[in-house]
Amino acid sequence: MDTRYDIVVIGGGLGGLTAANRLARAGRKVLLVEQHTQLGGLATYFHRKGHIFDVALHGFPAGMRKSLRKYWGPRFAERVIQVKSIRFHNPQYRLESTFDTQDFSRKMEEDFRIPRETVQAFFAAVAGMNYYDDQTMTTREFFQKFFPGRTDVWRFLMEPITYANGSTLDEPAISYGIVFGNFMSEGVYTFLGGTDLMLQMMREELAANGVEVALGVRATKALIDGGRVTGVVLNDKNIACDAIVSNGSLFRTAFELVGRDALSAEYVRGLEAVRPSTSSCQVYLGIKKGEKIPFIGDLVFHSTHPEFDAQALCAPKITSRTFSVYYPEIRPGGEEYSIVASMNARFQDWEKLSKEEYAVAKNALVEDALNTVEEYLPGIRAKVDYTCAATPMTFRRYTGHINGATFGTKFEGLKFSQGLPKEVPGLFHTGSVGIIMSGWLGAANYGVIVANEVDKYLSSRS
Ligand SMILES: Cc1cc2nc3c(=O)[nH]c(=O)nc-3n(C[C@H](O)[C@H](O)[C@H](O)COP(=O)(O)OP(=O)(O)OC[C@H]3O[C@@H](n4cnc5c(N)ncnc54)[C@H](O)[C@@H]3O)c2cc1C
Repeated sequence: MDTRYDIVVIGGGLGGLTAANRLARAGRKVLLVEQHTQLGGLATYFHRKGHIFDVALHGFPAGMRKSLRKYWGPRFAERVIQVKSIRFHNPQYRLESTFDTQDFSRKMEEDFRIPRETVQAFFAAVAGMNYYDDQTMTTREFFQKFFPGRTDVWRFLMEPITYANGSTLDEPAISYGIVFGNFMSEGVYTFLGGTDLMLQMMREELAANGVEVALGVRATKALIDGGRVTGVVLNDKNIACDAIVSNGSLFRTAFELVGRDALSAEYVRGLEAVRPSTSSCQVYLGIKKGEKIPFIGDLVFHSTHPEFDAQALCAPKITSRTFSVYYPEIRPGGEEYSIVASMNARFQDWEKLSKEEYAVAKNALVEDALNTVEEYLPGIRAKVDYTCAATPMTFRRYTGHINGATFGTKFEGLKFSQGLPKEVPGLFHTGSVGIIMSGWLGAANYGVIVANEVDKYLSSRS
């Protein structure tokens, strides 16, 4: 590590990685530090007992191909492939979709008996949504306008998005519409080769562009002099820099890296009122080498809850889960099958458990997942030779996010993420925040937006 950089990027999540790459391509001297021993942040993977598990590679919108091509290079974009079979099984309907406007329109007309004009008007309204629109209308009001009382349709339109970013019916309709619209443009996509390959390729690309990457290095304090950033403390060592891009938790960036004293009272009050998003639980099932499982869909949204209910989706008593099934085709040349069950969760429900209760609750997650998969794949228990579970505590431990937040903050957080450089010139925040800027696409794109701001800031000072 040198003693001086133009920019220090704190955190190797998709936002931090993309910002670092963009700034290095612009000719800046960049150091990227990551507290964990692996890059990726929430978008990560792990090896256990001969299995490999992807944590957050369930599906992203087609826009990711364009972003990867533009900000990482064509060899990344070539690996973006469609996830074609998305299945929904719940008490209100049972169907399969490619999750795009054409197929959803057909299903809404034929399965849900919604008049064509209403479906078209709904999709036109979604397509027209943007961040600068009215932010007072809630998703509930938006649905009520087009599909009054049709909770089956609301569920069809909303449940996957709640899994994807934790949003509820009572948040601004634009936060739903923009994310839903991104998926609806062309469907759901994944990265051929898995998260491990993508991160390895990113590491190579960063090195080729001159980004220095330091793993196992934690940033603890922003050094501020004359009201602007002059450096950062990394593993107890002062490193000089002109700008910091923090990819970590927005709350910790403001309150720990900077500290309340260096921020205006108005900013502190406002950020204290921002709600962190909810968290997640996951169950990982590794299938024995040599065993095969039949195709049951790529993504299966399974619920026994009578209707869509964002609170019930997070409840400790599991009634809804999404299964991502990984067939050998995802890692060409391999023969591995694995299944990952994902559930939304609340940190508070897990934090209060004793060590023994925590172990029992984790075991119950695994049993629930196995019992549910058994409905699709009878005899699956005999084929599974590895199981484990992650909880909000796990996500907090590995990423440092307050409450193990999976999607940063609720909608109102974006303003405070973007407002940070006005409080402390030279300090920028990027990363999943405010619903829209979360997920693989949102985080990567936000990294670019922030990198452009950093570049402008540095140019204005030279
Ligand atoms: C279970 C789960 C499933 C998901 N599924 C999908 C999906 O299918 N599709 C999709 O699009 N999105 C999905 N997501 C969301 C998506 O993965 C995230 O929104 C995105 O990866 C977040 O990127 P980020 O830039 O905010 O960084 P993060 O992933 O939050 O990473 C931040 C990094 O900063 C590091 N850091 C923090 N503080 C410090 C410090 N002080 N010093 C050094 N390093 C620090 C952390 O260790 C971490 O590596 C999922 C998330 C989860 C948890």
